[in-house]
Amino acid sequence: AVRVRFAPSPTGGLHLGGVRTALFNYLFAKKNNGTFILRIEDTDQTRFVEGAEQYIVDCLEWCGIAADESPQKPGAFGPYRQSERKPTYRQYAEQLVASGYAYYAFDTAEELTAKRAEEPNFLYGQKTRMQMRNSLTLTQNEVSDLLSQNTPHVIRIKMPTDEQVTFTDMIRGVVSFDTNLVDDKVLLKADGMPTYHLAVVADDKAMEISHVFRGEEWLPSAPIHLLLWRYLGWENEMPVWAHLPLILKPDGNGKLSKRDGDRLGFPVYAMNWTDPKTGDLTKGFKELGFMPEAFVNLLALLGWNDGTDKEIFTLEELKAAFSVERISKAGAKFDFEKAKWFNHEWIKQSPVNSLQLTVNSILAEKGIEVKSEETLAKVIELVKDRCTLLPDFVAQSAYFFAAPREYDAAAVKPKWNADKAVFFEEFANTLNIELSPLDLEASFKALAEAKGLKPGEVMLPLRIILVGGKFGPGVFDIVKLLGKEETSARIAKGIA
Ligand code: GLU
Repeated sequence: AVRVRFAPSPTGGLHLGGVRTALFNYLFAKKNNGTFILRIEDTDQTRFVEGAEQYIVDCLEWCGIAADESPQKPGAFGPYRQSERKPTYRQYAEQLVASGYAYYAFDTAEELTAKRAEEPNFLYGQKTRMQMRNSLTLTQNEVSDLLSQNTPHVIRIKMPTDEQVTFTDMIRGVVSFDTNLVDDKVLLKADGMPTYHLAVVADDKAMEISHVFRGEEWLPSAPIHLLLWRYLGWENEMPVWAHLPLILKPDGNGKLSKRDGDRLGFPVYAMNWTDPKTGDLTKGFKELGFMPEAFVNLLALLGWNDGTDKEIFTLEELKAAFSVERISKAGAKFDFEKAKWFNHEWIKQSPVNSLQLTVNSILAEKGIEVKSEETLAKVIELVKDRCTLLPDFVAQSAYFFAAPREYDAAAVKPKWNADKAVFFEEFANTLNIELSPLDLEASFKALAEAKGLKPGEVMLPLRIILVGGKFGPGVFDIVKLLGKEETSARIAKGIA
């Protein structure tokens, strides 16, 4: 059975790269009738942030890719929070010590700091481990004494010498690592909590994970994980790995980081995130006005395509089209303009009724009262092509519900004269609102000509009178939707 997991640490806002990882796991699961699991990797208690877990759950929900099993919806493979599996990790770490693949290390923080001060490139490993205070250098009695006195200690993996660790990555093909270049990573910390390396292996085993899609930044950790699978005697059950290409800064210069958003003027988080300690708010795609469908769509195309030029995909289409073979090895540049393009396309192609609830609440938030849902539907139909982000609906549709409060009088009345005033008055009085927008336009032009005016001279003033600015859809579509009474009232006010 295909079982995949998204395994974020609850340390703060969810980066778009994290959502992309979740999405690829989700798509692979759905494509293969599998199960998509959310596992919270919360063993680093110094980095734990209150509220971050619920936030992650909310983000996945907003994107429409909620997990089949999670801390909130446990299946048969719990616990779904790493910290809750604490006793098991110690047991595995001890097992590794007993079989000679790991060792106790008693070096104090001060000792390690002193060592690093002496040797700036110090790595605890093959070349140095024999100079340190650990169960490889102390006698068995010394070790027993230290342990029975509850001396703080960690357990480290003993990296083998001169071995090549090799596996086949679904995206990268055969990958090899030289064990001489990997240090003796801590597996179990002094507080009894596992590090990521031990926990990820133990959990993937316990949860019967079949495939792992994770960011390329985890590739250097893969040899450690592979050795742990082997040393714990589970190598045959090891999941198949796929390391996803990095998401790069817009200029391609390095990984897009959490900090880049502020600097470059676009969000990197899925949803608004407020740091519970500082109260600082970091903006997210959702609140900026991205549709979740568009967000998911643009993330899917960061490092994947279906082999054609097709760019707009619904989640259903992605589920059907997704294939690991078409995930690229190369990093994907993140382009915010392109991201907005996706959203614009999504708004344009969305049926009015699917936008109605959202637009209604956006307008309500701004104090714009929508009296008739029927009118709102017509307004959305008229203006949606002009909206890139959802809040654009405010400016694009507010004037349908309330007359513009102010506008540039000079723009309405350039070279104003009595003829123009008379023309507008007559247009308002004779307006036959039953006509189509096209016929309204024809009658407007005919009347202008009859009055000796060029239609161009009165068209823009009409728009400004009705809209309050030089924007919006066809002006006679606006007239038609506003109705005779409202159009006349705005004209009367405009020419006064
Ligand atoms: N907890 C890791 C993270 O925060 C998960 C890495 C993995 O999927 O193995 O990204």
